[in-house]
Amino acid sequence: MKKLIIEVRVNEYAMRDGNVHVPWTADELGRDAVAIRQAGAAVIHFHARQDDGAPSFESADYVAAARAIRNGTDLIMSPTLGQINVGGDQERIKHIVELAQHPSLKPELVAIDTGSANIDRYDVAAKKFMSADKVYENSHETLMLFCEEFARLGVRPVISAWNGPFLRSGAALMDMGLIPEPAYALLVHCEGGLLGGHPATTAGLEAFLSHLPADRQIEWTVCCKHGNLFPVAMQAIISGGHVSIGLGDYDYPELQQPKNAALVTEVARLARLIGREVATPDEARAILNL
Ligand code: ZN
Repeated sequence: MKKLIIEVRVNEYAMRDGNVHVPWTADELGRDAVAIRQAGAAVIHFHARQDDGAPSFESADYVAAARAIRNGTDLIMSPTLGQINVGGDQERIKHIVELAQHPSLKPELVAIDTGSANIDRYDVAAKKFMSADKVYENSHETLMLFCEEFARLGVRPVISAWNGPFLRSGAALMDMGLIPEPAYALLVHCEGGLLGGHPATTAGLEAFLSHLPADRQIEWTVCCKHGNLFPVAMQAIISGGHVSIGLGDYDYPELQQPKNAALVTEVARLARLIGREVATPDEARAILNL
C-alpha cells in the first residue's frame, strides 16, 4: 500500500484557551517541527503568529518561522496564504515571494482555496451566527494569478477544497496546465458551526471523492476545521488518501489536550494497524513529484 503522508496543521489562528500547546512563535514552531518529524510527519502547514497569538502578516515573521523549522528538520514546508484578504492578491503572497528568495526556506507547497465560502460560525445553542458577514473570497482571476506566480517561483499550489465545486474549479486549473499532476488536494471538512465545507462524516468524505476528476492524477488528504478528524482520517487511511491533522484545526479534548506530535503518533499508529507505513519527507516528495 502507498505510504501515508501525514501533514500537520500546527497552529492556524488557534488561541490557547482550548489547548495550551498551540505553537505561535518561531521558536515554538521550530520545537514542534522537530517533535512532529520524529513522530512521523512529512509536511508542516503553519501560520506566522505574533507573541500574543495575534496573526502576523509580516514576511520577516514567516522567514523566522521557516528558518526555525528548517534548522531542525527536513519537513516539507507549506506556509499559509491566510484566510483574510489583506490588501489584494500581491499582498497575500508577498511572504511566499520573500521565502522563495532563500533557497533553503522556499515553500514546496502552498494551499490555495479554489473557491469562495461564508466562514461565519453558527452557534446551535444560542440559535445565532457568531458573526454574519465573513466571506472568504477567491475569484478565478486571483487563483490563476497565484498559480502563475507560484510556477515562476517553483512552488506547488495545493488545491484546498471546502466542497465539491472547489474541486471542479481545481480540475479546471489542472486542465489549463496551471496545476501540475499529481496534484495534492486538501479536502476541508468543517464542524463546530462552520458551514462552508462538508461535515466530517462518511457522507461528507464520499461527496468530496465523488467530485475528484477521474481522468486526473490526484493525491488527496483530509482535514477538519473545528472538529475531530479521526473518523474521516481512518477512512482516508483505508482508502489510500492522506491525513492533515493538527491543533490549529481543533484542540482534541478527546485526547486530553495533546501536543501536535501526539496527534501524529496516533495517526501513524492507526496506519500501521492496517499495514500502511508513513512517508518520510523525501518519500512524500517522491509521491507528490515535488
Ligand atoms: Zn492554514
